[in-house]
Amino acid sequence: MTEILIVGGSASGGIAARESAKAGFKTTIIEEHNIVGKQGKCTALISIKGLKKLEVDYEKTVMNEIYGAVIHSKHFSFTVEKRVPIAVVLDRQKLDEEIIKESIENGAELKLKTRLASIEKNKALTSKENINFNYLIGADGFASTTASILKLPEIKRKVLCYEAEFEGKNEGKTVDVYLDSERFPGFFEWIVPAGSETKTGFGTTEIKKINETKKKFLQGNEIKKFKNLKTEFHAFIPLEERSVIQKNNALLVGDAAGQVKSTTGGGVVFGGLGAITAIQNLDDYEKKWRKLNLLKKHLIIRELLNKLNNNLLDFTVFSTSLGLNKILELIGDMDFIIK
Ligand SMILES: Cc1cc2nc3c(=O)[nH]c(=O)nc-3n(C[C@H](O)[C@H](O)[C@H](O)COP(=O)(O)OP(=O)(O)OC[C@H]3O[C@@H](n4cnc5c(N)ncnc54)[C@H](O)[C@@H]3O)c2cc1C
Repeated sequence: MTEILIVGGSASGGIAARESAKAGFKTTIIEEHNIVGKQGKCTALISIKGLKKLEVDYEKTVMNEIYGAVIHSKHFSFTVEKRVPIAVVLDRQKLDEEIIKESIENGAELKLKTRLASIEKNKALTSKENINFNYLIGADGFASTTASILKLPEIKRKVLCYEAEFEGKNEGKTVDVYLDSERFPGFFEWIVPAGSETKTGFGTTEIKKINETKKKFLQGNEIKKFKNLKTEFHAFIPLEERSVIQKNNALLVGDAAGQVKSTTGGGVVFGGLGAITAIQNLDDYEKKWRKLNLLKKHLIIRELLNKLNNNLLDFTVFSTSLGLNKILELIGDMDFIIK
């Protein structure tokens, strides 16, 4: 029987495990921590359309429904809003637990506190035991051990994010996105109403200045009104795909492969799609994934946005507020904005 070893028990690893077990492969997930999942280190604003594509039972993890976004530049803003919810804010930890539960129900075996240390031919050496495999799926996140062991090229383009989550009811229906090339170069600031709390944060490519940026962010007018800080964390988001994502029978999916929209940093849906593609095409996964070409246009838009200084961002947001928002309202969709 074909044996599939999945490294990383979070969203992408869980979806890979579910698909692998469903396909009848002997499936093992190893997770280095004593619990599965990203431990909530994610805003978890995810398009409903994307979640449906992943066929995940996400309903019981919903914290709030989102109908649109308000995009701000320094002096202007415009709103994109639909009459029906287009995205949901989820409890990320519960989502990961649900995905892993679905994989176990389909026959996958989960080994916690088991860290991949090295690979020898078709054998994974872990902190606990040696595990044989026919295929290994590296779903071990941005700092992928699998990629390091296999000496795959690094993901160079990335943003360092800081998220601060504040207690207190917030059932707002739109998220706020602040574009500011001076304060948040290479990314943006967000405020996401999450029902019982508010998730705020920013990303920046100026990694060395993160503490300074964080201080200014927390003192900013749009953030300082929130009191009772509940949780805060830093984490990287890859902003480009890894240039090699398969080496023989070892395949990378999710953040390990850089399967993230470089426009917004959303990676749950595309990591899941990467995982599904990997299991369905074990021998020619990389070729198949590249052919789908799902993320290229996001990268082009990110590069264009990065070229705009605050004056040009003001101009873009102002002109959009005059009319383009109607068009965006018609085609607007968080994950699949570009066909
Ligand atoms: C601040 C922030 C906000 C975000 N907001 C959103 C959002 O709103 N919407 C969205 O779609 N995406 C968002 N993302 C991106 C999203 O979190 C990631 O794309 C997603 O978590 C990728 O899932 P993954 O399973 O590939 O990797 P991860 O979730 O990082 O999981 C990797 C797993 O591998 C395990 N692991 C690592 N090394 C080993 C090892 N050697 N052995 C065994 N196990 C190992 C880890 O413990 C972990 O469980 C956000 C990210 C950040 C940082």
